[in-house]
Amino acid sequence: MPPVRISMFETASYAFDRAADWMGLDPEMRLLLRIPHREIRVDIPVRMDDGRLEAFVGYRIQHSGVRGPHKGGIRYHPDVDLNEVRAMAQLMTWKTALVNIPFGGAKGGVACDPSKLTQDELERLTRRFTSKISLALGPYRDIPAPDMNTNAQVMAWIMDEYGRKHGYTPAVVTGKPVELGGSLGREQATGRGVALISRLACASLGLPGKAGRVVIQGFGNVGSFAARYLSDLGFRIVGLSDLFGGVVCPDGIDVAGAAAWVKEKGRLACLPGTTAVTNEDLLEIECDVLVPAALGGVIHVGNAAKLKCKLIVEGANAPTTFQADAVLEERKIPVVPDILANAGGVTVSYFEWTQNLTQFFWDEERVNHELHRTLNRAFDDVHVFSVGKKVPMRLAAFAIGLDRVATAARLRGI
Ligand code: NAD
Repeated sequence: MPPVRISMFETASYAFDRAADWMGLDPEMRLLLRIPHREIRVDIPVRMDDGRLEAFVGYRIQHSGVRGPHKGGIRYHPDVDLNEVRAMAQLMTWKTALVNIPFGGAKGGVACDPSKLTQDELERLTRRFTSKISLALGPYRDIPAPDMNTNAQVMAWIMDEYGRKHGYTPAVVTGKPVELGGSLGREQATGRGVALISRLACASLGLPGKAGRVVIQGFGNVGSFAARYLSDLGFRIVGLSDLFGGVVCPDGIDVAGAAAWVKEKGRLACLPGTTAVTNEDLLEIECDVLVPAALGGVIHVGNAAKLKCKLIVEGANAPTTFQADAVLEERKIPVVPDILANAGGVTVSYFEWTQNLTQFFWDEERVNHELHRTLNRAFDDVHVFSVGKKVPMRLAAFAIGLDRVATAARLRGI
């Protein structure tokens, strides 16, 4: 069956509706939780290096600020559109509630292909975008962070541009370089969290931890650190991929070697000791844990029946369409949902924000200890709920998140 393109928004909305139905959420609260607080769309004119003026479109969507300031990453990608950003903003609301940190949900994005932009063009684009949305930002309003194709340097430009109008305000953005008030451990946090949650999920399902076979799609921030920490935990990384394709080695890929190769060559292709595979075929390799850590919607009705993994841990946001989810449920392949699996990043973003506001910096040991504590607790909450109520982990995670936001909304008064 050819894959039907299901938008990230449809997938996120389906998960919301399913949890809201299961909880019997009243219609007014349902309406309140569904609609975003604020949606901003801006045109971003940028002077290119060759003198041309090009206009990009950017979005910042604040889904909910009921439990705290809006929080969420900024993505640069050609596919960014209003509905995708809406979906990811909503997911952030449930994610921050699930890990129980005092933030709401937001997301931003600019429709652009950063691989075609020079560093100077990227900086001008980032500064102009920041200046256009800066009225809605602030340490107690909305705090961006990195997402796909954005990194600590981009966050540094956001902080600097915001500071030009508002003065020195490091807490306006997280994922900054450590030299500018970023937190130790933030860069690694999402991948570290994916590894930790994978270990907990394997243990709860009786799957092998040591030497369990792992396949990871995406070798950027999330995928590369997930690979590193899973390998440190004793898992065997048998397949990896990036935008240009995948590499496979049944005996296990040396992750540090792969990272060094990518640093030198810019891609995983031709990594010594591996064979090539397409991104589509990579997902269908037999393994214990499959970690999609790149784009949304990569597990769909066209391939869900063919996956040969025993567990899926969603490093990416919304990598499984709701239709594929139903197939996996029928096949009894458990899925650790994105709002739990990749919550390590926003958790350490919370620690970074806290450190910025108090101007007191933690050592990496403390950051990692608090991260482990937070994620362990969130995993336990989901596991106990899922087993106790006999529902899939995604439904359990959404129900916990929705319930916390609904409770806060009731207490504040609608
Ligand atoms: P990144 O830009 O650092 O890396 C993305 C990786 O995916 C790269 O290796 C790229 O080559 C690969 N890729 C891009 N298109 C691909 C394709 N069509 N097929 C296969 N691989 C492809 O991005 P990231 O920050 O690692 O984010 C990855 C995912 O994790 C996204 O869904 C993002 O929303 C989610 N996420 C990121 C964070 C974070 O802290 N960075 C936190 C939570 C969730």
